[in-house]
Amino acid sequence: MNVQTIMTNLEAKHPGEKEYLQAVREVLESVEEVYNQHPEFEKAKIVERLVEPDRIFTFRIVWVDDQGQVQTNIGYRVQYNAALGAYKGGLRFHPAVNVSMLKFLGFEQIFKNALTNLPLGGGKGGADFDPTGKSDGEIMRFCHAFMYELWRNIGADLDSPAGDVGVGGREIGYLYGMYKKLAREHSTGALTGKSYGWGGSLIRPEATGFGAMYYVNRMVKQVSDTMVGKRIALSGFGNVAWGAATKATELGAKVVAISGPDGVCEIPEGITPEMINYMLEMRASNRNRVQDMADKFPGKAIFTPGKKAWSVKCDIACPCAFQNEMNAEDAQELINNGVQYVAEVSNMGCQPGAISTVQNAGIPFAPGKAVNAGGVATSGLEICQNAAHISWTAEEVDAKLQKIMNDIYDLCIEYGKEADGTINYVKGANIAGFMRVAKAMLAQGIV
Ligand code: GLU
Repeated sequence: MNVQTIMTNLEAKHPGEKEYLQAVREVLESVEEVYNQHPEFEKAKIVERLVEPDRIFTFRIVWVDDQGQVQTNIGYRVQYNAALGAYKGGLRFHPAVNVSMLKFLGFEQIFKNALTNLPLGGGKGGADFDPTGKSDGEIMRFCHAFMYELWRNIGADLDSPAGDVGVGGREIGYLYGMYKKLAREHSTGALTGKSYGWGGSLIRPEATGFGAMYYVNRMVKQVSDTMVGKRIALSGFGNVAWGAATKATELGAKVVAISGPDGVCEIPEGITPEMINYMLEMRASNRNRVQDMADKFPGKAIFTPGKKAWSVKCDIACPCAFQNEMNAEDAQELINNGVQYVAEVSNMGCQPGAISTVQNAGIPFAPGKAVNAGGVATSGLEICQNAAHISWTAEEVDAKLQKIMNDIYDLCIEYGKEADGTINYVKGANIAGFMRVAKAMLAQGIV
């Protein structure tokens, strides 16, 4: 494989799909050397096959808003790769959703899911629907209309969507309600992130954030350091940041910043359990404003409009909100302020310039596909429970999640250790995930 030749062809075929091309380039650059030691991969054209999704569904969604106006949105599901299992990945509701974004997320999902060592293929979907300011009734009508189109293409052994940005437990409930009605079967494995009591798994809401902090804990231990007393800056205040804040606090760290599209809240004394609980209310309100935290806890949370979480002095920086939320200048500001670790929790949260700035400064950087894999891993555990018609206790699920994150961490070390003893977590995660998928594709022949 020659990465440049492949990328030149892809750029010509998919002009303007910047994020997708960036995600592919990162993986190919990481795996090039190993790939070229396997002539059987080249012969079977593994890379050329892997970069194109198996199929993409695009559909129109119409629904009626609270004013009685007819609204039209576009929905998508990218079924990327099913070498390891049925397609699996979240649904994102955000006005910026388009094919390129979902292709990049779907591509990343293939390797993330492979890292979990569970039988999960890669997929992603969503719609250009903006939940900001929408009423509960509007959310329900939109979710129902979305599923009215998607239902035939999903199923427990076919494709199992979950939540992502803009899609949480409430949305999964509405989506599942319509799925069940149309499919005429209570097949819980067709969607994950369900509420506990009708097929949902305990710990699934917390899993991405918990898993991320289990991974960060290992990064810190790697250099004989401890989480106790570490100042952590998180971006976002959604489900992922909430889980991360909970576990970070439990591990003795101090969450000193959370942020939103309107600015940053600095929390000098560290986030409290009351504040962590309030994050759930902030998300459920659909106001999408982090300033609400400062209004609710005056003196404890200090709001600065227009600033990012990376402007706050911290030891560990964790983007938890959206892609490309940390650029090279942000990374430099963090370094100037003494950051010691950067762990990407959001998918592609860091721009390539931010990653190289951190790595060149000798600071450990871990990529989203490894750090945030606990979410989809716990979705995999939810599917296991659904298939067996059982439900595990929170302790059982948490123990399995911890084991999976530890195994992912070990894989990243195995494949990412450089000759000089330093660890390239990006390379480690990409090679480990890729090898699993490539071997499965090879074993299954040319399909
Ligand atoms: N959206 C999450 C992710 O990016 C979870 C996907 C899932 O649970 O299927 O991995």
